[in-house]
Amino acid sequence: MISIRNVSKWYGQFQVLADCTTHVEKGEVVVVCGPSGSGKSTLIKTVNGLEPFQKGEITINRESVGDKHTNLSKLRSKVGMVFQHFELFPHMSITENLTLAQIKVLGRAKDAATEKALSLLHRVGLQAHAGKYPGQLSGGQQQRVAIARALSMDPVAMLFDEPTSALDPEMINEVLDVMVELAQEGMTMMCVTHEMGFAKKVAHRVIFMDHGRIVEDDSKDAFFHNPRSARARDFLAKIL
Ligand code: ADP
Ligand code: MG
Repeated sequence: MISIRNVSKWYGQFQVLADCTTHVEKGEVVVVCGPSGSGKSTLIKTVNGLEPFQKGEITINRESVGDKHTNLSKLRSKVGMVFQHFELFPHMSITENLTLAQIKVLGRAKDAATEKALSLLHRVGLQAHAGKYPGQLSGGQQQRVAIARALSMDPVAMLFDEPTSALDPEMINEVLDVMVELAQEGMTMMCVTHEMGFAKKVAHRVIFMDHGRIVEDDSKDAFFHNPRSARARDFLAKIL
């Protein structure tokens, strides 16, 4: 479904991605980890066209992300993205946050969009908060709204960039639980996270990045039990 082939990217002279190749099948959950600054966010952003790249090719369902003729806003609506910071619209209610893009981008009728929003809020356990504003919710609740918002577009895949790393510890699990459920329902997911419990529970594969390179791309079991590179072994020893 997601195919990343020989992707390289530079910021001026600095190479941030070096010949990255990987593929994510439909229904597959891939966890991306690695030290800070290794290019994880950049890689994930190139996948839905938020960051241009100079070399290689990325396709989503065979549609090329880098192609000038690709309708990027349509492609982005098909690939949900959840960031570290929730970026909800503060002046809009939770329901409005969830219906805006459905109406503007997908052209859904307001009633249908609202119905979808409420059913997604139910799914992430927040149906009681539909009329509130983001500032009235906790960080964990806001992140669950952000996930529901991405799902409101009926994405074919979901990308996560450290969705729990800005949260207070007691809120991490409520967000991970929603992600685990999504994974178990068969959503195609690429998740940058250092939550190795999540990786062990639902990941099919783990990608380890270092200095812009994909150093390991392995089944979960191989990665945790027998990492090939010294760098991945070091990394695991520090975070586990
Ligand atoms: P990670 O998510 O693994 O921490 P990033 O993808 O955010 O890493 O960043 C990878 C590297 O690219 C870092 O060294 C970072 O400083 C650099 N970088 C990120 N964004 C920019 C930018 N807009 N201009 C220049 N360098 C950048
Ligand atoms: Mg990052």
